[in-house]
Amino acid sequence: MANIGVLALQGAFIEHEKTLRSLGARAVEVRLPEQLAGLDALIIPGGESTTIGKLAVTFRLLEPLRDFAVHKPVWGTCAGMILLANDIGRDQPLIGVMDIKVDRNAFGRQVDSFETDLTVPELGAAPFHAVFIRAPLVTGVGEHAHVLARLDDGGIVAVRQGHWLATAFHPELTPDDRFHRYFLREVAGLPVLG
Ligand code: GLN
Repeated sequence: MANIGVLALQGAFIEHEKTLRSLGARAVEVRLPEQLAGLDALIIPGGESTTIGKLAVTFRLLEPLRDFAVHKPVWGTCAGMILLANDIGRDQPLIGVMDIKVDRNAFGRQVDSFETDLTVPELGAAPFHAVFIRAPLVTGVGEHAHVLARLDDGGIVAVRQGHWLATAFHPELTPDDRFHRYFLREVAGLPVLG
């Protein structure tokens, strides 16, 4: 059984745990550095990136998270994507391993939440229904980062860079588990049920 950590400082971690368990993985809540030991991969959930970052500093988790990410697969959703980015154009605690430029709250107050169908070739032909909540947008990708999905206007909302995955939306809030399967099987090389 694969051991998948879910950073559980703040935000939508319980929903990720449910999906992981339904795919035959063990979901482990991570709040302390020692809880990273023995994990095969980690998910950083959506929430508030400033809060998650500050709590990670308080719990002396930021460096251990960076070390973990250097060696092991990590997926950040929404606020998690912000934490993985190495450039967000402002100063706040980041893990900062991915070579992507991210604009926080890029959709502004008028449309701070929306849902849309995305074409994601890596997941197959069926569109992926994506939920965006005060979402970030990727405004630049380095040469090693690979775009997985764009909005109709070209805005980048899913990126893979080696063993790191970042999505601006919340795949844990919809029943379609193809992104979780993709992370476990393709990005992390772990077994998946079904
Ligand atoms: N707006 C949040 C941030 O900047 C992210 C929102 C989310 O994770 N749903 O951290």
